[in-house]
Parts: sequence; C-alpha cells; structure tokens
Amino acid sequence: MGNLHHNMPLADVEVRARALKEALEDKGLISAEYIEKWKDTFDSWVPENGAKMVARAWTDPEYRARLLSDAASAGAELGFGGVEGGFIVALENTKELQNVIVCSLCSCTAWPILGLPPEWYKSFEYRSRIVREPRRVLSELGFDVPEGVKIRVWDTTAETRYMVLPVRPEGTENWTREQLERIVTKETLIGTVNPDPNSVTELTPASAQAH
Ligand code: FE
Repeated sequence: MGNLHHNMPLADVEVRARALKEALEDKGLISAEYIEKWKDTFDSWVPENGAKMVARAWTDPEYRARLLSDAASAGAELGFGGVEGGFIVALENTKELQNVIVCSLCSCTAWPILGLPPEWYKSFEYRSRIVREPRRVLSELGFDVPEGVKIRVWDTTAETRYMVLPVRPEGTENWTREQLERIVTKETLIGTVNPDPNSVTELTPASAQAH
C-alpha cells in the first residue's frame, strides 16, 4: 500500500470520510447508528429555527420577554436546542444599537437555531477584524450601519452562544408570523445584515418537510 499510495491522487473529502467511517466501525469505536444520529442532528440545525423564535418574539411580547431573559428555554419551548444549545443569549437590537456575533477563537454559533456558520464567519479575517473595526467589516459585507447606530460585537465562548434579535422592519405590521419568519436569515441572526421585507428567503428542504 505504501508506494502505491503515493502515486494516487488525493482522495476527495467524501472518499476520506467514508474510509474514516469504515475504519471506526471496523474497530468497533462507533456504531452505524452513531453517524446517522449525528446526521439527523445536523439536519435539524437550521436558521429557520431561530427565525421562528424571532418571528414569535416580534408578535408575542411575553415570548419576547422570555427570549431575552433565557433564550435556551425560549428555544426549547418551540422544540429547539439540545446539544450545543444549552446556554443561549438573545441580543436585542434597537434603532440605536446593532449587535453582531463572532467566535474569535474558532467558529461557534448557536448551532441548533442558527445552523452551521457560513464560510466567511469561520475566516481568520472576519474573526480578527470584526472586533477591531466592525463598522468597516460590516460595510465590506454590504451593510452600511448608519452613523448614529452603535455596533456591539459579542464574542462566543465554548458555553455561551448568541443570537441577534433584529428590529422588526417597518412595513411588516400586517404580516403573519409565517411571513415574518421568511425574512429572518442566518446572517440576520449573526447581525451582519438586518431583515429586509423586500427579500423573502425560499424555504430549505430541511424546514419544508419534517425530519
Ligand atoms: Fe468557536
């Protein structure tokens, strides 16, 4: 295997993942169900969960209060949470304050309600610069925060995960909760953009059908 191996092209991620999975199963280190269970967990981690929490908070003042005092429990009320979602803090945007989250050490977010982070969130550039020059970085991401609005950057830790509670956009007063959910994206939950009533997201397969 030694020499031959050196002449072979690098296996792609899928092939390597399959080989790793087989090796772990052969050695009895994991069961076949173990990976399936994690796959189901990953599939259940979508930003539509956070969007439901935001839309509920926009339309239900009591839920909003519960969300702001204990976001993990407020998520659990709607069936979201579990592993990696044990301690979540909701950051309330106002007309004068824009909250933005980062994990300066690696790439953590409140996975169960935001989903896995976008590529740029994991980049060294975002992680290092958003803390030092948030206004400029947000502008480079296409979000020009008005001068009068303060920006506060929150650094995730291994335990504390954040979600941004955006301001409900003007012009959505007559919208249903389901309509509101469609303008809350992963990026709005990170705080690098605000919900736009003129751009409604398509439902992803994971959220469109029960798993
Ligand atoms: Fe991290």
